[in-house]
Amino acid sequence: MSTKDHLLTVLSEPASQAGHKVTIVGIGQVGMACAFSILSQGISSDVVLVDVVADKLQGELMDLQHGSLFLKNPRINASTDYSVTAGSKLCIVTAGARQREGESRLDLVQRNTDIFKFVIPNLIKYSPDTILLIVANPVDILTYVAWKLSGLPVNRVLGSGTNLDTSRFRFLLSQKLGVAPSSVHGWIIGEHGDSSVPVWSGVNIAGVNLRDLNPALGTDSDPENWKKIHHDVVNAAYDIIKLKGYTSWAIGLSVASLTHTILHNSNNVHAVSTYVKGIHGIEDEVFLSVPAALGECGVTKIVIQPLNEKEHDALVKSAKIMVETQKGLSL
Ligand code: NAD
Repeated sequence: MSTKDHLLTVLSEPASQAGHKVTIVGIGQVGMACAFSILSQGISSDVVLVDVVADKLQGELMDLQHGSLFLKNPRINASTDYSVTAGSKLCIVTAGARQREGESRLDLVQRNTDIFKFVIPNLIKYSPDTILLIVANPVDILTYVAWKLSGLPVNRVLGSGTNLDTSRFRFLLSQKLGVAPSSVHGWIIGEHGDSSVPVWSGVNIAGVNLRDLNPALGTDSDPENWKKIHHDVVNAAYDIIKLKGYTSWAIGLSVASLTHTILHNSNNVHAVSTYVKGIHGIEDEVFLSVPAALGECGVTKIVIQPLNEKEHDALVKSAKIMVETQKGLSL
C-alpha cells in the first residue's frame, strides 16, 4: 500500500467536472489577463488554456498552478489538444494576431478568420452546447465568423464588443465628474472600434440626464467639449499599444465580468456584440454591440435604447461597414 492509500479511504471518485468549465483559446497578453482575472476572482475554478505554442502553454500552466494556494483551489489544465476542452460551458477566444502600431482592427480580419477556421470547429467538436465569447479583433466580424463556423444558435455566440469601450467611457466620465465609474451610467454601442457610437442622450448620474443640463453634450458645439471623451475612448487602444505594446488588464477584467454574468445566470446587462438584424432598423446579418442581458443560455434579451437620429444613423453606418468587410471574407 502506498502512503496515499494508507492516508485516504476512497468512498467515491470525485466528479470529473465542476459544471462551470471555461476554456480560453489563445494565451497571449489578453488570454492570460482573462485567465488571471477569472481565477483570481474565483469566477470559475475549472479553467483550460489552449494555444498552438506548447512550451508557452506549459510555462503559463505551471506559473498559474503554483498560485493555487492563493486562489480557490482551482483545476487548471492546458494543452494544444482540444480534447482537454470537452464539456466547457464557455469558450473564450482570444487567439489571433493583435493590431500592430497604427493598424486598425478591421485590417486584422482575414488573418484571424483563418485562425478561427481551425479553432471554432475544434471547440464545437468537444463542447457542442457551449457559449462562444469572442475577444480577438476585429471582434464584431469575428463573432459573425464564429457564428457561421460553429452552427450554434445566435444567442450562444457573442463578442466582448463595447463592454470595454463602455468601461473606458464610464471611467473617463467619472474622472471629469469626480464620481465613481459604477455610479456614472452611459453606453457605447455599435462597433468595438473606430465607428463606435456613444449614446450621449442617455448619460446620467442617479437618473439626472446630463443632456438636460447641457443640451450640447457630446456635440461639436459643446463649449465644454465632452465629445473628447469619446475620442479618447476610440483612441485608447492605439494610445496604450503605442505606450506598452498591447492592451491586457482592462479587457481581462471586462471578460471576467461577462464570464461571471454568464456562469451565474445573473441576467446583468452588458454592452456585447450580438446578432442585431431587425434591431434599430438594421437589415443585415451583423453582430454589433447593444445592451443585452446575459445568462447561462448566452444572450437572453436586448435592451432597445431610444436613440436620437444621429445615434441611430451612426449605428446603421457601423452595420454597413461590417457588411462590406464580411462580403470580402473567405470563410
Ligand atoms: P498575443 O499575440 O499576445 O497572443 C495571441 C495568442 O494567440 C498567442 O499566444 C498565439 O500563439 C495564439 N494563437 C495564434 N494562433 C492560434 C491558433 N490557431 N490557436 C490557438 N492559439 C493561437 O495577442 P493579444 O495581445 O493577446 O491579443 C489577442 C487578440 O485579442 C488580438 O486579436 C487583439 O486585437 C484582441 N484584443 C481584443 C480586445 C477587445 O476588446 N475585444 C482588446 C484587446 C485585444
